[in-house]
Amino acid sequence: MWLSLFILALAAAVAIHFWWRAKFNAQQGQRTAEMENFQRRQQQTSVDAKAQQQVLFNSMLEGLLLLDRHRKIYLANRAFKNLFGLKTELRGKTVLEALRFHELDDLVNQVEAKGQVLNYELKLPDLSERWLQVNAAAIFDSAGEREGTILVFHDLTRLKQLERTREEFVANVSHELRTPLSLIKGYVETLLDGARNNPEVAERFLKIIERNTQRLDLLIQDLLTISALESERIKVDLQPVNLRTLVEKVFSDLKLRAENKQTKLLVELPELIATADANRIDQVLANLVDNAIKYGRANGKVIVGGKKTDDGKIEVFVQDDGPGIPPEALDRVFERFYRVDKARSRDQGGTGLGLSIVKHIVQAHGGEVWVRSEPGKGATFFFTLPAEVAN
Ligand code: ADP
Repeated sequence: MWLSLFILALAAAVAIHFWWRAKFNAQQGQRTAEMENFQRRQQQTSVDAKAQQQVLFNSMLEGLLLLDRHRKIYLANRAFKNLFGLKTELRGKTVLEALRFHELDDLVNQVEAKGQVLNYELKLPDLSERWLQVNAAAIFDSAGEREGTILVFHDLTRLKQLERTREEFVANVSHELRTPLSLIKGYVETLLDGARNNPEVAERFLKIIERNTQRLDLLIQDLLTISALESERIKVDLQPVNLRTLVEKVFSDLKLRAENKQTKLLVELPELIATADANRIDQVLANLVDNAIKYGRANGKVIVGGKKTDDGKIEVFVQDDGPGIPPEALDRVFERFYRVDKARSRDQGGTGLGLSIVKHIVQAHGGEVWVRSEPGKGATFFFTLPAEVAN
């Protein structure tokens, strides 16, 4: 009886043991699976965060370079690689190994020493005349340990070009204003010193003074026009404009000038109606015809013609039979103050701004302007305008 009871109790204990083990194993298995799941989720989150970071860095307009504590590249975003024209993997290289650019390496040294360098202007070592602004700082972890360096690169090229254009413009304007002013000053002083007592000399000097005041007036008018056009303060008032009528008006305004040089003015323009600002196009035609007379040959002819193009625009040309424009100057004549022959232009009362004004006005109409010329065979200026919209 005791023996059978003992065996029963033993069997029960063994059964309980196996049941517990099975249950424990099942729980253990579940816990391991949960652990693995958790780890997988963690890894996925970290991969997602890295990918997001990468997308963010690559979408930045600024170039970004991150260096680790050993001054090796940890990250270089797309904009940075584009700025420096790099295609290879940079990770793990030093700045000098990756770029072979000593000034940038020196900058990294400066950040190392000072903790940060702000608004550093860097000219790229190639021939592209590109400028970058660099802001750089050391990075520290939460324990205050140096973790690396961050450098942010901003492309300054456009700003530098604008700055240079502005400086050149100011220098040109001052020069253009100074020339007639110093002439006026000189002749006034000579008159005051006694020349006024000789009526013949006085008359001649006063004429020179008058010519130079007119020149100043013209220059200031052109400067005001160009500044208004460039700041887009002038809005074009688009109306149907009969171009033939406009050309005839411009010819009649410039008749005297043409007669003085015995230049024939000819219209070869069919009835064309453009959508344009009549006053502004008057200015364009007047500048081009005036140039054609000025730079054309004596006893020559100036023709204004045009047509409707296949793509529905109106193309107008102003042609002369003068000495023309040398090939190397063709692209430049529309620049402010550019002249092929400075002395000749000034002698003729030119400001060097006429074609630049023409270009601005035509562009404000959505048109284009260009010139063709073969030296010795005259010059032809073309411009396009939108045609009148048919109702
Ligand atoms: P400017 O006041 O000097 O005439 P523009 O801007 O009107 O200034 O013209 C710029 C330069 O382009 C002129 O100085 C001249 O050298 C050249 N140019 C313009 N039109 C002609 C032309 N029809 N034939 C030859 N050269 C021209």
